[in-house]
Order: sequence, then structure tokens, then C-alpha cells
Amino acid sequence: MTAPRIYLDHHATTPVDSRVAAAVVEAMMEVFGNPNSMHHAFGREAAALVDASAREVARLVGAEPEDVRFTGGASPAIQLAIAFAEERAPTLPLRVAASTIEHPAVLEALERGVAAGRMTVDWINVDEDGVVSLNEIAMVLERGVDLLCLMAANNEVGSIQPFAEAIGLAHDAGAAVLVDATQAAGRVPIATRNLDIDYLVLSAHKIYGPKGVGALVGLDLADAAPPERLSDHVSTTNVPAIAGFGEACRLRRLEMAEDELRIAALRDRLQDALLAGVSGLVVNGSPTRRLSNNLHVSVPDAPNDAVVAHLAATIALSTGAACVSGADAPSHVLRAMGLSQWRQDGALRISLGRFNTPEEIERAAGAIIAAVRDVQSLVEATH
Ligand code: PLP
Repeated sequence: MTAPRIYLDHHATTPVDSRVAAAVVEAMMEVFGNPNSMHHAFGREAAALVDASAREVARLVGAEPEDVRFTGGASPAIQLAIAFAEERAPTLPLRVAASTIEHPAVLEALERGVAAGRMTVDWINVDEDGVVSLNEIAMVLERGVDLLCLMAANNEVGSIQPFAEAIGLAHDAGAAVLVDATQAAGRVPIATRNLDIDYLVLSAHKIYGPKGVGALVGLDLADAAPPERLSDHVSTTNVPAIAGFGEACRLRRLEMAEDELRIAALRDRLQDALLAGVSGLVVNGSPTRRLSNNLHVSVPDAPNDAVVAHLAATIALSTGAACVSGADAPSHVLRAMGLSQWRQDGALRISLGRFNTPEEIERAAGAIIAAVRDVQSLVEATH
């Protein structure tokens, strides 16, 4: 019998929690009304379920239910946030400042805006650990900014950004802030930080919820008229996905602290095993400001795509972000961090989740070490 596969690619997406799946199915079967049909009980029940989910999303990030606008994921929420910012800017082009390690969903929206002449972008560099400096943010803000885009935590190296402090600086300088919390929400406490949120984005499938549902959170955004540029007819609300999203947020709020401690301990065990088993391996990202489930390493003399391919049948990990892995595209994040070429070529993104067990981690360590050694031998043999 072959050993069961091990999933270590939680930054790409997470397995759905069975309690979340139960909430989705229940909503789908029992609460099938259209939440816009407020003239009968079926519609009102569906609307109540959407409201209950909005309350859970809001509680996870410290907002109010009327601030939660459901979307088809984090990417459309980002586009919506940028369109709102454009619409609310005193003059165009919108003056944007963004970190160089934002997710492609942000980068592509900004590139399109610049190409269309609707915005200008000032880039904010990161240090070798993939963290922005508040001094650099302050300097950029001095030049005049309408919208600051700063992710809460990076989806490749897991570096947690000083987003709360950045919001304070930006607001003092009269700028709004878009916080892409897609990787951080449900892993890093946000609600307790009492943030003055302009635009905050999260996505259900990163927190053991269904795919294709996310939210844009910001003051009274739930019912704000959509920006002119995006005001197409809106589809009927995906109530089951939203119900699952709400349940996923509820579970994260209650279980995050304990889960993340346990996951960090597993991550540290895997890190120790890889450091001991692969000579020359380095850990990328910040040792102190890192998501508890992130382990990003570089292995010498072993191209990362070969290692990932070697493990593909047994262990799921990745060379970088999901959207570029497999395409051999260099990571803009590792480049922005100024990592040397071998560290970029040998980069492996390993990301854990709440269902990983100590046995899995032990087995994964052995398999990853063996795969790296196999690839290194093959490379050496061809030289
Ligand atoms: N932002 C970050 C930081 C992400 O990691 C992702 C997903 O990879 C996204 C945005 C896009 O999320 P979604 O798949 O919900 O559009």
C-alpha cells in the first residue's frame, strides 16, 4: 500500500473543514431562497444567513457587519477596493504607494491603472527578510499618496508586515490603506488591534472555507453603491459559500490561537529536520515576523521545480506562489528581497495547516531531504 499523500501547500489553498462543509450543505439544501426576495420567508431566511456570516467575518477582523461586502474571492475584492479608492480620490490620477511584494492580484490591477492613465505608483521596497520599513513608508507618504497598498502577510515567504502602524502613518498623511489580509486573516490576530480599516481583503479558501468567496471590509461598504467602472449587474448571492465563509471565520476566531501555536511547533520541527538533513539549506523570510505555518527555504544545487516534481505524487509543496509555480516564472518577491540567484532557483515554499499531524511532518522531512539529495546527485551527474 502506498503511503497517503501529505498536503503542505496551504498558502495556495486549504482543505475544507468538515464543519464548514456541513454549513455549506445545510445552507444549500435548507436555505435556498434568494436573499433579495425579502417579500417571503425563504428570501428573508437567506438574507438572515448572509447577515449572520457578515457578523462572523466582521468579528474576525474587528469590523462591523455593515462594513462587510461579500465578493467572489480576494482578487475581485482587491479590484473593488482600488475602484472605490479611485472614485473617492479628490483628483485623478490616483496616487498609489505599494510594496513591491504585493500579490499579483494587486500588482496587475495597479499595472492596468497606470497603463490607462488612471493612477501613478510609488513602490516601497522590502528588506532581505521581506518586510517593509516604516521609515520607507513615511518617506513615500511625504511625497503625497492617496492609497497605500500593504499586504498584512506575504503569500510566499510569510513575512508579517507592520500593517497596523502603517495605517496610522497613512491616516496622519491623509492616505487611505488597502490591506490584503488574505494570508493573515485567521492566522494573525487582527480584531484585537482595533484598526481603523479603509479597505481590508480576505478570502474563505485560505481559512478552510470554500473557494470563490471573499470579502472587502471597510466603513459602510456593504451597501455602498458600486464604483461606476465596475457597476455591472450583480449575480444572485452565493448564499451557501457565504454561509461556509461565515462558519470558517467563526472557527478561526475561536481556534486560531491554539491552532497556530501547534502549527508553528510542527513548522519548527520540519525546519530543524531540513536544516540538519540538507547541508547549505537556508531559511528565507523573517525569523521573527513570519506566519506560523510558513517555511520558505532555499536548497543549494537542486532546481526547485525538479524537487517539487520529484515529490509531486506524495507531498504537495510549491516553488512559489500558486499562480506562477509550474510556469518557471521567477518570483517577484524573492527578487524584491534581493536574494542571490541560487536562493531563487532553489526556493521551496512549504506551508502547513491545522490538519497536518506530527507523523506527516516527520515523513515529509524524510521525503523532502531524500528528494533534494536525489536531485542534487542528478545535477552533479550531468555536470
Ligand atoms: N492575496 C493574497 C496575499 C493571496 O495569497 C491570494 C491567493 O493566492 C490572493 C490575494 C487571491 O485570492 P483569491 O484566490 O481569493 O482571489
